[in-house]
Amino acid sequence: MVDITKENIKSLIDKAMENKEIKVYYQPKYDAITSKISGAEALARWVTKEGEVIPPYRFIPLLEELNLITELDWYMMKEVCAFLSEELQKGRNVVTVSVNVSRLHTQEEDYAKKLCDVVDGFGVPHSLVEIEITESALAADENNVIAFVKSINEAGFAVSIDDFGSGLSSLNFVKDVPAKVIKIDKSLLSSNCENEKERIVLESIFSFAHRLNMTTVAEGVETVEQLGFLRTCGCELIQGFLFAKPMPEEQFKMMIETADENEAPTEDILITQAPATATQLLLDVIFKRYPLIIMSNLSRNSFYMMAYENFSTTSCPSTGVYTELIVHGASTMHPDDQKLFTDTFDINDQLKAYAEGQRERMVVTRQLGDDGIYRRVQTTNYYVKNPSSDDVLAITLSRAVD
Ligand code: C2E
Ligand code: MG
Ligand code: MG
Repeated sequence: MVDITKENIKSLIDKAMENKEIKVYYQPKYDAITSKISGAEALARWVTKEGEVIPPYRFIPLLEELNLITELDWYMMKEVCAFLSEELQKGRNVVTVSVNVSRLHTQEEDYAKKLCDVVDGFGVPHSLVEIEITESALAADENNVIAFVKSINEAGFAVSIDDFGSGLSSLNFVKDVPAKVIKIDKSLLSSNCENEKERIVLESIFSFAHRLNMTTVAEGVETVEQLGFLRTCGCELIQGFLFAKPMPEEQFKMMIETADENEAPTEDILITQAPATATQLLLDVIFKRYPLIIMSNLSRNSFYMMAYENFSTTSCPSTGVYTELIVHGASTMHPDDQKLFTDTFDINDQLKAYAEGQRERMVVTRQLGDDGIYRRVQTTNYYVKNPSSDDVLAITLSRAVD
């Protein structure tokens, strides 16, 4: 294992770059609606001659601390351009690649001009290169940064605010930085979108970004539940282990070559949504009458709570496995009604009934309220087919009837 210290890092990294041991790994970004590869992020890996793959956290923070990072960033930019140029010359499919740029570049004179020289030197269109700068770097020196981002923009490169939500930058500042893309930090997805406050924060960020006409990317997406919720927020691009991990160039090349056959798994737990605001308004209206609205994918045994006001003693999970939801629902009911409820909403029975033409199913049960009194609650499932797959979805509307 390589021992990296403040004293030896410069010579080690210089040699590693010279020997091309610093490799670009590519992590694809997927269109949240179509699940097609729509971009990628270039991430540095040091692959030693012995085959050890050293991740960036072992050398990038130290390079930043010692003011040595800009050289590595330029090396990465050149490697990415060389890759894009070769692929373009062979007439192959390419996608826009975003390259991480350290905050130290904001102090570099003529950064945008140097960037043009490098990219033009490889004959790569500027639209294929995007610059990622972390939120904390942007917040460090506001005036300087606005001019820096503006100059990159004017040169035809999109700028993306990386790790948004992890630092301290004010929303007002984001409004003034002419970045086109905002990458929502994975820490904002930490509770798997199951916590209502987390969802409110995310919804607000997406709404704010969309109103500023920014493209949104969610990074660190690991679960179907996160994906489902991000879609409802109108998130455009998804990057995360759920779809793909960062991979060596050869593997990425093959992936984009076969992109059409190689879509990310579309494990929809939701119908692909209309623009978030219209859907939200409609939902708000229905919610006035039905305090519980659930979208379930019966074919995949999953559900997601679209709107929820608790009317029983125990709170309900907001997303997860459908059969577990039914068991949970039954547990909040009068003992005499539990079997009726579990029989009515048995997943296989519903799928069979749908295949035979049934389009809705309703049941009234007694449910224990916070005050210890049973109330009659009507639960109706409406069945629809997911337009983008053959999955059978159920929309549950529930309300108290006395
Ligand atoms: P970043 O730019 O925010 O990159 C995203 C990081 O999240 C990557 O870590 C990626 O592997 C990781 N990630 C992606 N999807 C998931 C997921 O679903 N779950 C989890 N847990 N992680 C996920 P990586 O490659 O270790 O890079 C770490 C950081 O190092 C990057 O964060 C970036 O700030 C920095 N970095 C990497 N390459 C470069 C570079 O060439 N130049 C500069 N200046 N910084 C770089
Ligand atoms: Mg990044
Ligand atoms: Mg990031």
